[in-house]
Amino acid sequence: MSHHPTIAVVGSGPIGSAYARVLVEQLPDARVVMFEAGPQLTAIPGESVRNIPDPDEKQRARELSQGPQSGALRESLGIPAGVVVEGMFTARQGTHLLDFGGEGSAHAPTFPAAAAATNVGGQGAHWTCATPSPAFSEKIAFIPDEEWDDLLATAKDLLHVQSAAFADSAVGEGIRSLLEEEFGDELPEGYGPGTLPVAGDPQPDGSMRWAGADVVLGPLIDPASPLSERFTLHDLSFVRRIVVEGDRAIGVEVEDLRTKETRFVGADLVVVAADAFRTPQLLWASGIRPVALGRYLTEHHVVITTIAVDADRIGRFASEQDLEAEIARRSLNPADPVAAVNRIPFSEPDHPFSLQVMYAENPPFQLDPTHPAAGNRWGYVNMGYGVRKHPRVEDGVTFSDDELDYRGLPNMTIEYALTDVENAEIAEATELLRRAGGALGTFVAEPRLLPNGSSLHYMGTTRIGETDDGTSVADPWSRVWGVDGLVVGGNGVIPTANTMNPTLMSVAVAVRGARKAAEDLS
Ligand code: FAD
Repeated sequence: MSHHPTIAVVGSGPIGSAYARVLVEQLPDARVVMFEAGPQLTAIPGESVRNIPDPDEKQRARELSQGPQSGALRESLGIPAGVVVEGMFTARQGTHLLDFGGEGSAHAPTFPAAAAATNVGGQGAHWTCATPSPAFSEKIAFIPDEEWDDLLATAKDLLHVQSAAFADSAVGEGIRSLLEEEFGDELPEGYGPGTLPVAGDPQPDGSMRWAGADVVLGPLIDPASPLSERFTLHDLSFVRRIVVEGDRAIGVEVEDLRTKETRFVGADLVVVAADAFRTPQLLWASGIRPVALGRYLTEHHVVITTIAVDADRIGRFASEQDLEAEIARRSLNPADPVAAVNRIPFSEPDHPFSLQVMYAENPPFQLDPTHPAAGNRWGYVNMGYGVRKHPRVEDGVTFSDDELDYRGLPNMTIEYALTDVENAEIAEATELLRRAGGALGTFVAEPRLLPNGSSLHYMGTTRIGETDDGTSVADPWSRVWGVDGLVVGGNGVIPTANTMNPTLMSVAVAVRGARKAAEDLS
């Protein structure tokens, strides 16, 4: 092992960034080189696009992240114009569908909303920043409880998590009180309605600077810090292959998407954090094919609705003055007007769901001006229950050696189905959503189940496990079974059935993997 180890990180999202940060901090002689297939969007690498004040610039940053669905910007991203059809629909802004319908598109008829972001900071430049912690069976049983606590605390520091964001909003408190009246008696102590932790830094004017991979990288991208001298980030650099010699990863083959030149970069450790579909794809393309690779795909299904908040009901807890204060605060950042964020967390055995409750000035869709709830003075609540998917080997992504995708990697086909178990829990969550909505006001949209893939939280495809028994891809420290010097990171490592936003959990697992990798390298 070299005394000056080089670590190659594939992917610049929050997880690749967590590996980079911990490894540079823990290994005084190590260098980290990070490769990102997408472009850098902001002057500070990996910053959340939600912080961009100018609406046109924000829009452009989102389009630049949409890979094959970037329209006219596509060729500047090194994506050949000829391989993609025009006019297809896009996914959530800043992301691109895997099954976008053009030539070289993935096949995902049973998981149609599957999407990714291709840019510095990954999906972490576009995320909502909700950062709940896993609870009960969502946690990974082989990681001891005290270690979980420590890993989650470190992950919260890395992501700048605020556990009481917007807690001073009287309207937010009113919403919690109404939910408490409806559900309080049924929920265990400590698991009732509360504020939703979010990642960001509250500003003196009451607005939020949302966190992205930038805050995780921290000193690594601060030119004033000596740590920045041992970290390099290359954007528009697409890793085509992990190079393996014998049973050890020795580096990566990287294509510079500006010059189209491909070079080999040697490394003592390769960390692949390229999202839950492209990480297993890259392993497959490199001939690394554990039987569980791509299998056991899960997400959390989402049942959502929008409610116009009822003046009389909320008026029992919040005054006209409180509402004025709320409106004044929202007007500080009209481009990102979400204010109070609340939730009811997962608890077992009786509430295996996560409810996320976002208070907003407008519904997320155009409401007919003649609708009785249009222009509701007390605003709207967009809320949804996350419902778990129980892991099954049948659900997953496969890769073709014969058909290539638009980048020239083995193309993906996703196969996925809900079982009776999930359908029963979805029905239960829909009932709970009706009750929650009824407690807060009037339904503006009927509760509905979003199409598979809509959560954007894909898990299980590179799951970690205790033994190499064919049901996992990597060991408890995220080291790929059978290949030395290769670690996987991201939501794909999560082997459990989750109902919540998984990024905090994946950063925690990454911290564990990075600490072990630092030990292995020193
Ligand atoms: P990503 O952030 O996806 O980054 C992976 C990166 O790898 C990408 O930039 C990609 O371009 C790059 N890459 C892929 N292949 C290659 C290759 N071969 N070579 C080089 N680079 C490559 N999560 C939450 O927990 N809470 C939320 O509230 C939340 N809200 C969200 C809202 C939206 C709109 C979106 C889009 C996502 C949201 N998420 C949320 C999900 C969250 O953003 C992801 O969980 C998180 O970003 C995952 O981090 P990652 O580093 O594993 O992967």
